[in-house]
Amino acid sequence: MSAFDVDLFVIGGGSGGVRAARIAAGYGARVMLAEEYRVGGTCVIRGCVPKKLMVYAGRFADEFEDAAGFGWTVEKPRFDWGILKRRRDAEVTRLEGIYDANLIRAGVEIVPERAVIEDPHTVRLVGSGRTVRTERILVAVGGHPVKEPAVPGIEHAITSNEVFELESLPERILVVGGGYIAVEFAGIFAALGSRTTLLHRGDRLLRGFDDEVRDALAEAYRQRMDLRLGRSLTRLERRDDGLVAQLDDGSAIEADQILVATGRRPNVAGLGLDRVGIETDAAGAIPVDAYSQTTVPSIYAVGDVTNRANLTPVAIREGHAFADTVFGGKPSCVDHRLIPTAVFSTPEIGVVGHTEAAAREVYGKIDVYKARFRPMKATLSGREERILMKVLVDCASDRVVGVHIFGHDAGEVIQAVGIAVTMGATKADFDRTVAVHPTAAEELVTMR
Ligand code: FAD
Ligand code: NDP
Repeated sequence: MSAFDVDLFVIGGGSGGVRAARIAAGYGARVMLAEEYRVGGTCVIRGCVPKKLMVYAGRFADEFEDAAGFGWTVEKPRFDWGILKRRRDAEVTRLEGIYDANLIRAGVEIVPERAVIEDPHTVRLVGSGRTVRTERILVAVGGHPVKEPAVPGIEHAITSNEVFELESLPERILVVGGGYIAVEFAGIFAALGSRTTLLHRGDRLLRGFDDEVRDALAEAYRQRMDLRLGRSLTRLERRDDGLVAQLDDGSAIEADQILVATGRRPNVAGLGLDRVGIETDAAGAIPVDAYSQTTVPSIYAVGDVTNRANLTPVAIREGHAFADTVFGGKPSCVDHRLIPTAVFSTPEIGVVGHTEAAAREVYGKIDVYKARFRPMKATLSGREERILMKVLVDCASDRVVGVHIFGHDAGEVIQAVGIAVTMGATKADFDRTVAVHPTAAEELVTMR
């Protein structure tokens, strides 16, 4: 008889927790997983998936407009938020069911409750009060959106959680922030027809991205919305006819909804970390080693709660590597150095590797290959739009150390380019790759 009820208790049924639980169970471990909200976690329930469906919805607006240049007559299109919401929510529920079913099929016991840590080998289920003895604990609790800046009236704003609950398309929306979420949702609402203002405290959107890409995005967004950079909120007020945001330059913006997308924090409050002596870092995240082990040997953590790279594929990899290491006898750690990523703005951004500034710092001498051009489709549609592509090459080794794409399908393209860059492709490898014509992506192999 084991001294433990289970071999692994996973707290959190999101991207990282679900993967870890399934793989560990596949290795024969007895696994229990607690989820306090909905299995699937942020990505499936109120993140990547419903967001991307809304991105798709918005992009039809451009398609209807562009079609005219190709000879189509499109009657004035009408958009029905209710239909989109219903269909999107049904798809999310379908996926949730699949996640549930996959866990059950793998032999994982799902507990639909909040769980907290009692001691290094005990988890308490908050609803039922039941305690479970476990050999190991995996903390995969993710994060939550913050309501910042802490100005008077900020309670009137919504976050990315509530945005998915909206029952109607706001006529006017103010989006605050300059990160992935603010940029994506400003793009979505502008495309769906809301009068959209994007307000960011910095002079450029998307800190950490290549400066030229950031400038290209700002230029494109200015055509689609009211973009206010270098400005901050000072207060929010609710009036009879909507909300009013006061800015630090004395101006005011009226809106029906104000979405703050000013970052996320790990879900560690009340989790019991203090009871086991795990200290969080300045960002509230759980520090872990390369194998996702915390300072308490029986407790591991993966995903957003560790604030390494807060992306679903990374959480999944960390969860998988944890299970391989601990239950599969295959010690594995995740390489966080080269992570392709996309921002689903319209047009999109796809990135792998260093920004130009970072590449110069790391490698000293680099070559920058750049193309800025009008997409072929825009020649007939008449849309004022430019694609930007940058390939950064370390002169000493000829290796491609950064690729940046701003344009349609950048996310799709960068996934494939990411393989080449991960393999250590050189500029000569890019050059000897035959172009696919006519595409926009062919520029990547024809830049000289
Ligand atoms: P989560 O998926 O957040 O899962 C944690 C789970 O733990 C949650 O379900 C929560 O309810 C549960 N939980 C928390 N505390 C407890 C507890 N004490 N007991 C029981 N259960 C608990 N990433 C991408 O790669 N691409 C995208 O396009 C993308 N879009 C996004 C859009 C939005 C709006 C947001 C908010 C995020 C997006 N992300 C995207 C990020 C991605 O969703 C996260 O990186 C990913 O979900 C992290 O997975 P996780 O397992 O760490 O946590
Ligand atoms: P980010 O950390 O990416 O961006 C937060 C933004 O809010 C920054 O522009 C920041 O400005 C600004 N900000 C922070 N605090 C304040 C404040 N007090 N007042 C005003 N502005 C403030 O967070 P997000 O919420 O956008 O997204 C969280 C994470 O989720 C992302 O980093 C990403 O990892 C993941 N995600 C991934 C997506 C994808 O893969 N496509 C999509 C959505 C989310 P500053 O730059 O000046 O600090």
